[in-house]
Amino acid sequence: MNEFMIKGWCPSYTKPALAKDGFFLRISPDKGYLSLKKTDLICDLSIRFGNGLIDLTNRGRLQIRGIKEKNLENVILILKQNKIIQNNNNHIMINPFWEKKDKNILFYQMLKSILSKLPLLPDKFLFAVDLGQYPVLSSLSADIRLEHDENGKVIIRADGHLMGKNITPDNLLENTITLSKYFVENSSKGIRRMSHLINTKPLSCEWCQYYPAASKFPSMDNIGKLGIYYGTKYGRIRSTDFKDLLKSSNPKRIRFTPFKSFIFEKGLDIVNNNFLNKMENPVNDVHACPGKDSCSSSTINTYEIADKIRQLTNKGVHVSGCTKGCAFSKKSEITLVGNNGLIDVIYNGKSNDKPQVTSITKKEILTKIDL
Ligand code: SF4
Repeated sequence: MNEFMIKGWCPSYTKPALAKDGFFLRISPDKGYLSLKKTDLICDLSIRFGNGLIDLTNRGRLQIRGIKEKNLENVILILKQNKIIQNNNNHIMINPFWEKKDKNILFYQMLKSILSKLPLLPDKFLFAVDLGQYPVLSSLSADIRLEHDENGKVIIRADGHLMGKNITPDNLLENTITLSKYFVENSSKGIRRMSHLINTKPLSCEWCQYYPAASKFPSMDNIGKLGIYYGTKYGRIRSTDFKDLLKSSNPKRIRFTPFKSFIFEKGLDIVNNNFLNKMENPVNDVHACPGKDSCSSSTINTYEIADKIRQLTNKGVHVSGCTKGCAFSKKSEITLVGNNGLIDVIYNGKSNDKPQVTSITKKEILTKIDL
């Protein structure tokens, strides 16, 4: 089991990671969805072999938490036998609001079929297939993006750059190989994401010709045509609650979104207080990582602090147990970061930016933070 202990990679189902609450296994559903039966089985595995908690991630993945080392192989075997991880795909994130006739599934499948032809990419490397009418994944971390430009043509864009290059299905492979090679050949230990690399080694002009269309989410009415939309608090789900919801709604399949929410396709519209129902906006603007109960890097109870602050402000908030910022990698209006049991505050920045206010207590949130 020693391979499970290695650090410095992105966890997956083959490489579980060890956290304070035990090992966790990350499942990346193919095309972002799973059947009712498979989702229910994941809940059962979480209850039987884990600590009964599942996290939804900002890549649209599921993490079964709190697994004992002696049970890891068994859980992996059951996932494999039930073909839950047959098409597991760590490297691609898809626009979760895809529709039958849009280009998301087409380009996702094409990209997936050429992954083996690309240079060996780091575990964390991520393609965002974001080919609805407007991009919706722009606020999430990725390395290479496929989007529509302002005229509705497909572009490939290196993350961090404002513009991309027009492509077609016919030249997807050569362009993806070239951009991936640029990353692999120029990245280093200190430069691990595309958005960092483009600042140190600029791309040639051919890659930077067309702006993507402005980001815009489908209306909740349109999302409602895909299924019943449920949000979660910070992505954390109790497996027993999820099982109850699955049973009462009986959806055909479940799409997991990178916004820590899910869509029940062809399910009954059930109101359940353990989930966020009838949301006005698909994105919940308060983020928090699992915090000190689950992660040894945290000295603060992130969920408790996030619960408190969400009642005090309408601003976007990110509560991070440490500067790593697992829950949200982009800027938030207010970011709170754990610091030896106290809290540092960053305005309009990321968790690893320099704080403007340092070492305040939980009680001082109301008086010392500009809410
Ligand atoms: S941000 Fe830090 S404390 Fe939070 S989950 Fe990530 S590593 Fe742990």
